[in-house]
Amino acid sequence: MINITLPDGTVKKIEKGTTSMDVAKSISEGLARNVLAAEVNGEVWDLNREINEDVTLNLLSFKDKGGKSTFWHSSAHLMAEAFEAYYPGIKLAIGPPIENGFYYDIDFGSYEISEKDLVKIEQKMLELAREKNEFIRKDISKNDAIAYFKEKGDEYKLELLQDLEDGSITFYTQGNFTDLCRGPHIPHTGHIKAVKLMNIAGAYWRGDENNKQLTRIYGVSFLKNKELTEYLALLEEAKKRDHRKLGKELELFTFSERVGSGLPLWLPKGAALRDRLIDFMKKAQTSTGYLPVATPHIGHKDLYVCSGHYDKYGEDSFQPINTPNEGEEFLLKPMNCPHHCEIFKASPKSYKDLPVRYAEFGTVYRYEQSGELHGLTRVRGFTQDDAHIFCRQDQLENEFKKVIDLVLYVFKALDFIDFVVQVSLRDKENRAKYIGSDENWEKAEAAIIKAAQDKGLKTVIEYGEAAFYGPKLDFMVKDALNRSWQLGTIQVDYNLPERFELEYTGSDNKKHRPVMIHRAPFGSLERFVALLIEHTAGKFPLWLNPEQCIVLPISEKFNEYGVEVLNLLKNYDIRGLVDERNEKIGRKIRDAEVKKIPFMLIIGEKEFANNQVSVRQQGKGDLGTFSLDEFAKIIQKEIEEKLIQFEQ
Ligand SMILES: [Zn+2]
Ligand SMILES: [Zn+2]
Repeated sequence: MINITLPDGTVKKIEKGTTSMDVAKSISEGLARNVLAAEVNGEVWDLNREINEDVTLNLLSFKDKGGKSTFWHSSAHLMAEAFEAYYPGIKLAIGPPIENGFYYDIDFGSYEISEKDLVKIEQKMLELAREKNEFIRKDISKNDAIAYFKEKGDEYKLELLQDLEDGSITFYTQGNFTDLCRGPHIPHTGHIKAVKLMNIAGAYWRGDENNKQLTRIYGVSFLKNKELTEYLALLEEAKKRDHRKLGKELELFTFSERVGSGLPLWLPKGAALRDRLIDFMKKAQTSTGYLPVATPHIGHKDLYVCSGHYDKYGEDSFQPINTPNEGEEFLLKPMNCPHHCEIFKASPKSYKDLPVRYAEFGTVYRYEQSGELHGLTRVRGFTQDDAHIFCRQDQLENEFKKVIDLVLYVFKALDFIDFVVQVSLRDKENRAKYIGSDENWEKAEAAIIKAAQDKGLKTVIEYGEAAFYGPKLDFMVKDALNRSWQLGTIQVDYNLPERFELEYTGSDNKKHRPVMIHRAPFGSLERFVALLIEHTAGKFPLWLNPEQCIVLPISEKFNEYGVEVLNLLKNYDIRGLVDERNEKIGRKIRDAEVKKIPFMLIIGEKEFANNQVSVRQQGKGDLGTFSLDEFAKIIQKEIEEKLIQFEQ
C-alpha cells in the first residue's frame, strides 16, 4: 500500500498502481465526472497514469490553473484533428495552451484559409468532441517517431524530434489524430462543449523571422456554452474600456511619432488627473514621514555600473549620452534608487536617524522594442511614485506594515477591493544564488509574512520568486473585468546598500549597513492611469475626475448665469464647465452622459429666479433642485467618504 496526501491533509491508503481517476471515483462519482487532470507532487499528470509511490495529490478541475491549461492544450489537439479532416496534408508545428485559450501554428501549404473557414472548423471540433474520444498516451522510440512523421511529411515535428532523447518520447492519439506531445491531457474530448476560434495571425517557425511564416490559429474553449458566452461578453466590454480608446475620447493623453513612440504626452485633462494623483499620494506620504527629494533625469554611467543597473539595462537600452568632454558618459536613468543612495550618503547617519524615507515622483526611461509598446501600459518613459526607506533590520517589520497601510489606503480611495498579496521568497533548494546573509534573509522573510498576517491580508507564498537581492510583497489586484494586475510592490534590498557602501553608526558606536526598501504603490503613473481607466470605464471617482460637473443652460439666455454658477462653485473647490452651445437641452444631457461627467446642473427660468440648480447624476438621473450650497455638500460628502484622512 502507498499513501496519498490530499490538499486538505487527509491521507488515503491505496494499492500501488492505482490511478488518480480511481482516487477521484473513490471520493465521489461527481468529482470523477468533472476532474480533468491531476497534480502529483506538484507536476500535472494524466488521470490514468499509475501512482507507484507515496505522493501528494491534487485533483484538478477547470477552475485550477493546471486543469484549465490541460483542457486548452487538449483543445489544440482537437482543433488540429478538425483542420486535418478538412485540409489533409497540412503540417503542424506547435500547439500550446496560453493565458486565454490555445493556438496551433500550421503550415497550410497551398490551402488558403480565412476567418470564414473557422466556423466549419468549430463545428467539426464539437462533432469530434461528442465522440468522447480518449486521449491515449504511448511511449515510442525515436526511430519509430521519426518514421511516423517522415511518412506524414511533417518537417516541423521532425525538427522537434531532433532535440528529443530516445526513451523520453511520447505520442498522444485521440480519434484520428496523433501528435508528438509530452502531455498531459484530459481523459476524453467529451469535456469540450463550447469552442470559439478567435483569429488568424502569422507566426514564424520557432519565432525566427528567417524561418518560414506559418499560420497561427487562436481559439478558446469551455466546459459549457454559458461560459463561452460570458467570456465573449467580457472581451467585448474590455474592448469598450480599452484605455487607448477611452484616453482619446476623454482627452487624457496622446502619442506623437515625432516625439517618439512609447513616450506619452499628457493633455491638459490628463495632466490635471495626474497631478491630483500625485497630490493625493504626497499628502499621504507627508503624514507618514516621507521626505520629498528630487533628482535629475540622467546620471553618470559609473553610477549605474556601481548599482548594477548598467549590467541589467545597459546593452539593450538607451545608449550613453556623450558630452563634448571626452570620456564623459551619461545615461538616462532607468531607476531612481542609485540617486537616492547617494542622497543617503550625503551626510553621516546614526541609528537614531533611521528610518529615513526618501520619496520622489521620478521619471525613468527604459527601452522597449516598438512591437512591445502598448498604450500607457508599456512605454519607454514613465513616472514612478517611488520611495526608498533606509532602516535598521529591527525596523523592517514595522516599516513594512506602514507601507502596507499606505497601499491599502490608496486601494480604498480608488475602489480596488479585490486583491491578494503575493509574498516572494527564496528558492528552498538553491540558497547560494541570493546575496546577503542567511540570518538577514530569514529575518526579512519572517518580517514580511508577519506584517501581511498582522494586517489580515489574503496571502499566497511563492518560493523561488524573490529577486536575488531580497524578498518582496506584491499586491495582485483584480479589476472590474476580473483581470489581475500587479500593483504596489514592496521590495527588501540587501544589495544596493552593499554596492554603495551605505552605513550608519549603531548604538555600539560601530558601523552597520542599513536595509533598503523600495516601494511604489501606483507602480508607474502611466500604467496606473491605464488600469484606472479600464477599471472604472472612465468613470473616475469624483475626487479625481477632471470635470466634476457641467452646467447646462436650457437656452443661450441663461449662459451668463451658467458662468456665474461655475465661478461660485470654484469657491467650494468644485471643478466643472459650462455647455454654452446653442443645442437642445436633451442633446446637451446626452453628450454629458457620454463624457461621463458625474453631475449635470440644468438651469432655466425657474432656477435663475430662485438662485438654484436642477441636478442630474450621471447614469442615475434627476436628484432634484438645490441651492449651490446644498449641491456643494452633496459633492463634498461623496469625496470625504473616499478620502478619509490618512494618518499613522
Ligand atoms: Zn500536445
Ligand atoms: Zn528602487
